[in-house]
Amino acid sequence: MTKSSIYAAIDAMLPQFIAISDWMYHHPEIGHQEHQAAAMLAAELGAHGFAVEMPYAGLATAFKAVYKGGDGPTVALLAEYDALPNIGHGCGHNIIGCAAVLAAIGLKEGLRDCRGTVIVFGAPAEEGAVDNAGGKVFLIEHGAFVGVDAALMVHPAARNVIGGSSNAREALEIVFKGKPAHAAGSPHEGINALDAAIQTFNGFNALRQHVLSDVRIHGIISEGGVAPNIVPERAVIRLYVRARDADYLATVVDKVMNCARAGALATGAEVQFRQTAKRYKNMLNNPVLSAVFKSNMEALGEKIEETEVSGAGSTDMANVSHEVPAIHPYICISESKLVGHSREFADATITPTAHAALSMGAKALAGTVADIFSSADIQRAISR
Ligand SMILES: [Zn+2]
Repeated sequence: MTKSSIYAAIDAMLPQFIAISDWMYHHPEIGHQEHQAAAMLAAELGAHGFAVEMPYAGLATAFKAVYKGGDGPTVALLAEYDALPNIGHGCGHNIIGCAAVLAAIGLKEGLRDCRGTVIVFGAPAEEGAVDNAGGKVFLIEHGAFVGVDAALMVHPAARNVIGGSSNAREALEIVFKGKPAHAAGSPHEGINALDAAIQTFNGFNALRQHVLSDVRIHGIISEGGVAPNIVPERAVIRLYVRARDADYLATVVDKVMNCARAGALATGAEVQFRQTAKRYKNMLNNPVLSAVFKSNMEALGEKIEETEVSGAGSTDMANVSHEVPAIHPYICISESKLVGHSREFADATITPTAHAALSMGAKALAGTVADIFSSADIQRAISR
């Protein structure tokens, strides 16, 4: 089996997908509002003979696109396309969505004897910045991965990295309810919700010494009163808690919630908790899939600087990796250092280096799927 016809199909369509990726850069849409990006990618898949279902899994901007070849394994490619508020595509999900769809169409058009099924899942709202983030968790709950043998995606970065971990993550909103009063005339009549929030942050800062060093507790006070002369009636903390796995995360989340209860008790405020996004697990990269992907990247002339990094961030692809064998490798879009979730990162996604990475990422994904389809050994090994 030759990959050259798949690569030729990808090369032929590359300008179109560069245009879509760059369009997404100029028109960033945040999670669950990625109507135009999702529609553009789904339309490409539909135009190339994929059976497209959209909306999907109860999400307006999710889709499932299926190309059924001959009998064989089912491989899912994950497309993301949500942007960050105010920052745009500072996580490069424009590249992710385009690479997944380009790979799938390349396989469909280029693989003569396709012994398997290719599915592209359009997975919205990976970024936790919006309510109900975690599109892939919705897909899992919908049963999308039942019968899927492997799930693959690529993520842009400042270097090529094959494996690596991610943290489990809880996204919480903590609301304190106090009692308004004149802040100078009758402060003793008031209950200060902002003070409860500040006490809570002091609790977090004390807690940091007594949790494992890879734990991350980071948040903002998104509401802290309306005027200096009114005792704040309402204060809101938006918070992420991250830990190396879901079990330890649960332990830390309990401690974090106790900090908020303590802040409420100390001030007399009431406290309420709300989970604002699906809980993300920790990423498990399948070693066999990683090795196949690595050999495909190397065959495309790429250098792999690192095979394992421990990432402090979180992704809902991690939840997929607990369901089916999965990989979440990083592809290099920049010669110089890049900070994730920055405007510089977004700007880097429309450079010639990023466009070349889009092509390479799509080819490495498609090559990996072709290897899975053609090798019973790989099929056996990844399911072990
Ligand atoms: Zn990302």
